[in-house]
Amino acid sequence: MNDRQPTATGDDRSTHVYLCTGCPLGCRLEVDAVDDDVVEVRGFSCRKGERYGRQEHLDPRRPLSTTIWIEGAAIRRVPVRTAAPIPRDQLLAAVEALRGLRIAAPVRRGEVAVADLLGTGIDVIVTRDLPAVRRRGQTTAD
Ligand code: SF4
Repeated sequence: MNDRQPTATGDDRSTHVYLCTGCPLGCRLEVDAVDDDVVEVRGFSCRKGERYGRQEHLDPRRPLSTTIWIEGAAIRRVPVRTAAPIPRDQLLAAVEALRGLRIAAPVRRGEVAVADLLGTGIDVIVTRDLPAVRRRGQTTAD
C-alpha cells in the first residue's frame, strides 16, 4: 500500500514542515498527519531524522541549559542542564522554577540539582565542579 494515498475518510491529511536538528545537515522534514496520528515522514536522510519528525510533531521537546544560584562557592552561579529534553510548552515554567533556586557548594558535575523538574520525570543536573570556599574568619571545622 502506498502511504501517500489519501486516507479512506477523505483527504484530511495535513503536512507539517520541520527542520531536523539531529546533525548539521539540517534535513527538511515533511510530516503528514491525520488528526493526532503521524502517517508518513519524508525528507530524512537517516532513521534519527524520521524519529525526530514524529517526536517533533507529536511531543516537541527541547533541552534546557541555564545557571542557578550557588552559595559558598567562588562564583555565584553554577551551570546546569536538564538530563534530557523537556516538553517545549514547559520551558518557560521550567526557567521560572529555576530562577529563585539556590543550592550550596560543594557540587560535582553530574550531581542532581533538581529531581523530577515540574513532574516531567527529568532531573536538572550540575555541569561543573564547584568546591566550597572558606570565607574570611572561617576555620576548617566550620
Ligand atoms: S535526518 Fe539525519 S542526516 Fe538529516 S539532519 Fe536529521 S540527523 Fe542529520
